[in-house]
Amino acid sequence: MFDLSSLVRPHILQLKPYASARDEYTGREGIFLDANENPFQSVAGGAYNRYPDPLQRTLKARIAALKQVAAERIFLGNGSDEPIDLLIRAFCEPGRDHIMLLPPTYGMYQVSADINRVETVPIPLTRDFQLDTEEIIASSRPATKLIFICSPNNPTANCMRQSDISLILRHAPGLVVVDEAYIDFAPDQTLTHWLETHPNLVILQTFSKAWGMAALRLGMGFAHPEVIAVLNKIKPPYNLSGLTQEVALEALDHADTKDLLVHNILEGRAWLTQQLETLPAVQQVFPSDANFILARITDADTVYHRLTDRQIIVRNRSRVILCEDCLRITVGTPLENEALIQALRAVTQP
Ligand SMILES: *Cc1c(COP(=O)(O)O)cnc(C)c1O
Repeated sequence: MFDLSSLVRPHILQLKPYASARDEYTGREGIFLDANENPFQSVAGGAYNRYPDPLQRTLKARIAALKQVAAERIFLGNGSDEPIDLLIRAFCEPGRDHIMLLPPTYGMYQVSADINRVETVPIPLTRDFQLDTEEIIASSRPATKLIFICSPNNPTANCMRQSDISLILRHAPGLVVVDEAYIDFAPDQTLTHWLETHPNLVILQTFSKAWGMAALRLGMGFAHPEVIAVLNKIKPPYNLSGLTQEVALEALDHADTKDLLVHNILEGRAWLTQQLETLPAVQQVFPSDANFILARITDADTVYHRLTDRQIIVRNRSRVILCEDCLRITVGTPLENEALIQALRAVTQP
C-alpha cells in the first residue's frame, strides 16, 4: 500500500537529474579525460585531484555491514542536516504540504521548513516528554508529508516509547522520520530493523556525536530504496567530499574506539547526574538517554550568564516550551564536568 509517487512533489518525480561524469562512466580503469580535473596532482597533497564517488559505494558497503542495513537503503549526507533539508524539498510543496514537529525538539526541522517556505504543525510532547500519539494521529492530514520524531530527543534527552512510534508509523499519511542522532548513548535499540516492514520509515543517524566527527559533516539516512533514490536524485552530485569518505573509512576500522568513548561519556553522565542532584538550586535532573543532561535550575537565566562569565558554556533552553528554567549540559571530560559542578556550586550559592 506504499505509493511513493503520490507523496513526492510532482516536479521532483519528473525531474531529469544532473548526470555527472562519474555517473555516466562508472568504470575504474582508463584514461579519464571526461571531468575537467587536474591530471597531475592536488596542491594539497593526497589524491584529491579526482572527483569522489557521487554515491559513496565503498563507504556505504562498510556502513551496510556495520549497521546490518542493505546499501540500497542508505543515504549519506553532508551532516544529517542535509537529508533533513532534502526530505522537505522532495516531499513538501510550499503552500500545500506541511511537516509535523513535536516540540521541544531539534531546531533544524523548523529552520529547514522555514527556508523552504513549508508550514509546520507543532504537536507538543506530553508533560513527561513522550509523544502525544492521539493528537498526532488526529491532526494528521494527507498534506502531512513528514512527521519528525527525535529519539533520544534533543533537548529533553529521553527516548520515545517504541510502541508509540509504531502506532504513528501505522497511521501516518506520509513518511515518519526518526532522528537517532544520540542512539549510541541510549539503552533502546535502533529501529533500523523495522525498515523492511515499514516502507514509510526514515531513520537518521550521524557521525557527529558518538563517533566524534562533527567537523567532518557526515550524516546517514536509512529508508526504503525508493525513498533513497528520490534523495539521490536531488542531492548535489558530490555532496560528500573525498576527504570525508576517506576519513570515515578509516574510522570504521576503529568502531571499538567509538564504543570506548561512549562508555566514558556514559560514566561522565552518571557522575554529572549524581552531582547535579546534590545542588540545592537544581530542582530536577531529567533522565538522559543521550550525551547531554537537561536540568531544571532555579533562575536558570541568571545561572546561565554567570556560567558564561566563567567561560563555561551550556545551552540555555529556559525559553523553550516545557523547558522553563532548563539548561542543557553536554557531558564533557571528567575535568570539564568537575569544573562545571564547582562553578555551578559557586554561582548558585545562596
Ligand atoms: C546533533 C544532532 C544531529 C546531527 O546533525 P549533523 O548535521 O549530522 O551534525 C541531528 N539531529 C539531532 C537531533 C541532533 O541533536
